[in-house]
Amino acid sequence: MVSNGDSEQLQQALAGLPLGGMRYFERLGSTMDEAAAWLEQGAPDLALVVAEQQSAGRGRLGRSWFTAPKASLAFSLILRQQASAPPTLWTGLGALAVCEAFEKLYSLQPQIKWPNDVLLNQRKVCGILTEAHWQGEQLLGIVLGIGINLAPSAVPPRQATLFPATCLQEHLPPSAQGLVEVNRFHLLAVILERLLAWRSNLHSKTFIQSWEARLAYRQQTIQIFKALDEQESLLAEGDVEGLNAEGNLIIRLTNGDTQTIAFGEIRLRPLSSNGGL
Ligand code: ATP
Repeated sequence: MVSNGDSEQLQQALAGLPLGGMRYFERLGSTMDEAAAWLEQGAPDLALVVAEQQSAGRGRLGRSWFTAPKASLAFSLILRQQASAPPTLWTGLGALAVCEAFEKLYSLQPQIKWPNDVLLNQRKVCGILTEAHWQGEQLLGIVLGIGINLAPSAVPPRQATLFPATCLQEHLPPSAQGLVEVNRFHLLAVILERLLAWRSNLHSKTFIQSWEARLAYRQQTIQIFKALDEQESLLAEGDVEGLNAEGNLIIRLTNGDTQTIAFGEIRLRPLSSNGGL
């Protein structure tokens, strides 16, 4: 059941944005699935699905994404204009918008663990998932999903994650009463506003530079593992240099050559973590 109060607050917070429609759920399987079904039924550009809680939230490669009631922000945005841009750029768009919202609202310094995670103090606070949907040969659109941990109950137990996790509240100055509650709908509005500001500039140099400026582990050695492989085989190791125009990661190898890492079934880890974070 949707609480009217929350629904109204959400609508008020998003009132100034040119959304193509909105579906808000207190509980849902996955905002990605709901958005995909809506897209197939002809959802307009910028249609939005928001859920307070997901029972089957998804990450990349079929992994699960954990959300908790009132402690997480989980939404999926349908993008139909310029949908043919590569998924890497859409993922970067989501990550950059989240970073800029954190900077603007809370003066934090988030970083992007390429390709799809936002970190606060080296821990994952947000995951981004981009899915392209086709009908035969026709590209229907992109669904851009974003999940953010707001409060401690949204953070999965350490043994349940492959990378250390955190929540936004833990990085905000506490009040005398304890952790300060995040206005999740206002945060959502600012993320969407930043997404809209950048989306017509996905192919611009400024977009890539703004994304690159927030990359985690710059000039540090990272390792790229094949994510689907049980053995986690090492695909590449080098220092993070930056991004190319398609948003692929450029690393510098020990012999001085550069290697371009394409967005795909990979997992990135800082070398210091020994690959097994
Ligand atoms: P990794 O985080 O291991 O580098 P990834 O970025 O590809 O891989 P995602 O697809 O973004 O991973 O997210 C799924 C993974 O994130 C899960 O396998 C789990 O380890 C972790 N996870 C799930 N829920 C949360 C959450 N709420 N906060 C932080 N991490 C989570």
